[in-house]
Amino acid sequence: MNNKYDICIIGGGIIGASIAREIAQYNKKVVVLEANARVAMETTAGNSGLVHGGFDPTPGKLNAKLNQLGKLRYEDWIKEMEFPFLRIDSTIVAFSEEEMKHIHMLYERGLTNGLQASELEIIDAKELQKREPNISKEAVGALVCNSSIAVDTPELTKTLFTNAVRNGVDLKVNAKVVSIKHNNSKYLITTSKGETIEAEYVINAAGHYADMISKMAGYADFNLVTKRGEYRILEKTEAGIVNSVVFMVPTIHGKGVIVAPMLDGHVLVGPTAVDNVPKDETRLVTAEQFNNIGNIGKKLIPSINMDKTCMTLSGSRPIEPINDDFWIKHASGDKKFINVAGMKSPAIASAPAIADMVIDLVKETAGELEKNKNWIPKEKSILPLF
Ligand SMILES: Cc1cc2nc3c(=O)[nH]c(=O)nc-3n(C[C@H](O)[C@H](O)[C@H](O)COP(=O)(O)OP(=O)(O)OC[C@H]3O[C@@H](n4cnc5c(N)ncnc54)[C@H](O)[C@@H]3O)c2cc1C
Repeated sequence: MNNKYDICIIGGGIIGASIAREIAQYNKKVVVLEANARVAMETTAGNSGLVHGGFDPTPGKLNAKLNQLGKLRYEDWIKEMEFPFLRIDSTIVAFSEEEMKHIHMLYERGLTNGLQASELEIIDAKELQKREPNISKEAVGALVCNSSIAVDTPELTKTLFTNAVRNGVDLKVNAKVVSIKHNNSKYLITTSKGETIEAEYVINAAGHYADMISKMAGYADFNLVTKRGEYRILEKTEAGIVNSVVFMVPTIHGKGVIVAPMLDGHVLVGPTAVDNVPKDETRLVTAEQFNNIGNIGKKLIPSINMDKTCMTLSGSRPIEPINDDFWIKHASGDKKFINVAGMKSPAIASAPAIADMVIDLVKETAGELEKNKNWIPKEKSILPLF
């Protein structure tokens, strides 16, 4: 049977792609199963696309650690692969003295999380107006982080998969996993096409469905809840309205509410936050939130022309509610089944470090992995030239 693999990765979002790309450096036969017809169609296609500086996660959490490690590892990816990115400041804007206290708290938190003092700066209203002339006159100051990187998450995901496939990984789309059986220390994974894959290891990176995939294999270790965020995208005529990624204070207004330049010249406004939407409605854009997004934009940038909305976008954070942190661990019943779940922000920022951590979990049972001497780390851009 040629459907025998060492490792089966479930999920073709940025997390499955990162793991596939990194694990291809070793002599293992790897397959990725993706339910959709294309990769990067779920949460990976509905987010802010920022490799965050790392000042926001709660110190001590796994996501705080992996944000820092991931941000550093992006420098390797940038050297090795061509994908669109932009080094850009994050400006977190305070509208009151109370919010300024949070700005100072975030500065300290950033240092605790491992940022250098040179990456962070607190500025007053005058300096803020100089850097962001369109910002609300009600703003009283800001935290600026100079080490964030904007990426086009779906394009990055495709680049990672292209590199993984170049290095021998098999990628199967339209391959929704419908059953997982464990037989003689092998997993038999059946897809909606009726195909059965045999693998020694399963790496579950199925986004919002990771809890269901784990239960399908017999490991009811965790549950996931949703928190949908909707955006409006403004026409390129609005480019230049902000010079950096302009945030509301995250500890007060919900995570990551921004007005931001996009890599393709558009302007991104959002996201909102709606809890517990059905798993199959994580990419909806609703009339109600459409107006709320307008309010977000106007609060930060009063002159913003929200009538220039030309597209909408939506995605939902998959949240493990008990620990409110990444859930990256062996399944309770088997060290060869690895769950990579709870992938809310900053999972894009952490992606290379998440892949490294998963490989370390594989090594715990497989021992040191033999390197693939023919591994090609370089990848040219997959974007068309015109
Ligand atoms: C509004 C918003 C803003 C965000 N902003 C940022 C940010 O700026 N920076 C940051 O670091 N992070 C951010 N994030 C988080 C980031 O977008 C996610 O953590 C990341 O995209 C999750 O990727 P994933 O691969 O785990 O999930 P997904 O992209 O959802 O991929 C999972 C894949 O598994 C597949 N799948 C599911 N079930 C099956 C099955 N049975 N069989 C086969 N395949 C299956 C799905 O089709 C899907 O393609 C944001 C998230 C949201 C929602």
